Amino acid sequence: MSQEIFHPNHKFMEQLEATGPFQAGACFQCRKCTNGCPVTFAMDLYPDEVIRMVIIGQRETVLRCRTIWVCAACETCTTRCPNEVKIAELMDSLKEMAIQEGVPSPQPQILAFHETFLNNVKKRGRVFETTLLPTYMLRSGELRRKWNVREWQYDLTLGLQMFYKGRFALFPKTIKGKKEVSTILSHPKQGKNPQ
Ligand code: SF4
Ligand code: SF4
Repeated sequence: MSQEIFHPNHKFMEQLEATGPFQAGACFQCRKCTNGCPVTFAMDLYPDEVIRMVIIGQRETVLRCRTIWVCAACETCTTRCPNEVKIAELMDSLKEMAIQEGVPSPQPQILAFHETFLNNVKKRGRVFETTLLPTYMLRSGELRRKWNVREWQYDLTLGLQMFYKGRFALFPKTIKGKKEVSTILSHPKQGKNPQ
């Protein structure tokens, strides 16, 4: 058992709440969030356990867990919570905090997609699907892996089919507020580690 349990870091929840608020302290461990979550099968901590660990200050365990990367941001948990704890939003904030602090992700391919997606949106204020997937394939190493096991033909065929059906545009579109979107995505709200 970690020594951290006996010396909780109360500042962790305060630091997170400063970027929310998420109302994590209101959790009374009813597990309604976990019981409704569609991806618990892939998690190493259940959503209610993440909340509990935030409350008692298990900073390192939370920032290193797979759950924050597996979370699909579907908001089922937030909707079900009787105490209005913003669990999905808290997961997102924890993910950004892990990135800011250089904590290695146990799900590197999800991290690669996360960064590829945000960079893609930063450029135009909206996603451009035509470059999103190829960039992700290169960045994550999936292209090389699929090339080595000769699986790339399937993706190429699928990509061409989608292109001919008009699912991939040749030219990207931008939005009026693209600078504002880029600014928001470039300045995460997380503060510095208070430890
Ligand atoms: S549903 Fe809300 S109160 Fe219940 S365990 Fe989850 S976060 Fe806590
Ligand atoms: S937002 Fe994340 S933690 Fe909440 S129910 Fe959806 S996948 Fe599960």
